[in-house]
Amino acid sequence: MIVKRAYRHKAVFSLTQEQQAREFAGCARLIYNSGLEQRNLGYSVTGKSMSYWRQTSYLTEAKNAPGFEFLRDAPAHVLQQALRDLDKAFASFFAGLSGYPRPRKRGEHDGFRFPDPDPKQVGVHDPAHIGQVRLPKFGWVSIRNSYPRLKKKGLLFEGCLKNVSVVREADGWYLSFCCEVEIETPVAPTGPAISFDRGIANSLTSSEGEFIHLPVITAREWEKIGFLQLAINRCQKGSRNRERAKGAFARYQQHLRRRKVDAIHKLTTTFSKERWLIGLEDLRVKNMSASATGTVEGPGKNVAQKRGLNREILNQSWAEQCRQFDYKTVWYGSELEVVPAYNSSNECRVCRHVAKANRKSQAVFLCVACGHAEHADVNAAGVILSRALAQHGSKTQSSETKSKKQSSEIVGPIGGTSIREQKRKLSCSNACEGSASLKNPEAPKPSRKRASARTLQVAGEELVLAGFYAGVPATETSAFRPR
Ligand SMILES: [Zn+2]
Repeated sequence: MIVKRAYRHKAVFSLTQEQQAREFAGCARLIYNSGLEQRNLGYSVTGKSMSYWRQTSYLTEAKNAPGFEFLRDAPAHVLQQALRDLDKAFASFFAGLSGYPRPRKRGEHDGFRFPDPDPKQVGVHDPAHIGQVRLPKFGWVSIRNSYPRLKKKGLLFEGCLKNVSVVREADGWYLSFCCEVEIETPVAPTGPAISFDRGIANSLTSSEGEFIHLPVITAREWEKIGFLQLAINRCQKGSRNRERAKGAFARYQQHLRRRKVDAIHKLTTTFSKERWLIGLEDLRVKNMSASATGTVEGPGKNVAQKRGLNREILNQSWAEQCRQFDYKTVWYGSELEVVPAYNSSNECRVCRHVAKANRKSQAVFLCVACGHAEHADVNAAGVILSRALAQHGSKTQSSETKSKKQSSEIVGPIGGTSIREQKRKLSCSNACEGSASLKNPEAPKPSRKRASARTLQVAGEELVLAGFYAGVPATETSAFRPR
């Protein structure tokens, strides 16, 4: 079985290399933002979405434009990959998985990618350069090799290298090697099925009655975040002190994030290795954490209270838990079932009676039909477990009948959609991306008269080309150099 794995190492750049990395990240950001502008402008003129291939054809012109010679210093692949990222962002938007692509900001999305693993481009595992990697235009880059999982000295990754990303984080630059690794087909674990009810008072409650608390941000830590933010606001814009305050804030955020993600990794690994089936409820985080502010005419109620609740919801990283379970269950041979969440907290796990009166308080559950009493979260986890088992059973049944009929129909789960399924949808929509009808069903269909369509396109192209450079004010172009 082939799985995708990323191996991350901290890079130890020399001063020149760090300067180069900042410039390349700046160039990639410029191309991404200009590409976004080009797509917006192109759509407003022609009513058509632009494809990745069409956008890359403008790269040469962009490099030859006066004031933009610095783009020639950056590796060509890096610039192409920025447009590829934009294309993926649009595909994800069309598939309904994310919002409309937004411009990238300096200091927030600094990074670029080398897509070609050819030894002429990326040099790795050279006996003369142990613990180093050769990147185009960079030369040999040293790596802080603190990867205890790969016990062999000097080995940076395993499997077939696909691409190398260079990303800036709060504490420095990181290299991420994306690889395809062949692993033995895993044997399904024998431990009993388990499911989790996810909440705020208890981060995760298992169907076996175990309460798990993730290290979420405490009230005192929120206070510290507030102080660090205040420190940034008190510094003059563009000053060195402000940069320093920003760095302190980013490092603290990174610490809090890593602490939580580490706990989620340990949790998901343990259960994916031990249990044959894991059940989760399909939580619509976006809907649950929607703002209550309302409009000027109709302001919302209890806005501050809801804001606090939203913060607690987002603090739990439910999507990250789901993402990790999704790929780890594949690695370790277990199964993940994401089931619909409706009424899971009001249903009795013993007699299936659904009533709001069942739930006496946040923690107490007492069934009005059969008198079953339990902690409300444990009961909900039990309900989710039975739903997950039922969903898994119907899936295997339908796959059996499918193989008998040898039909090509894809049979999905009863209710909730798994991440894998959403990705499949995404890859489907990727193939048909670029058609205007997908982006906007009411968009004007391309005219049948060829001549008029062509003239429109030509008019659009001129404008589109102008939009390519619109990201930078004309007066600044000569002095402009990305950082
Ligand atoms: Zn009952």
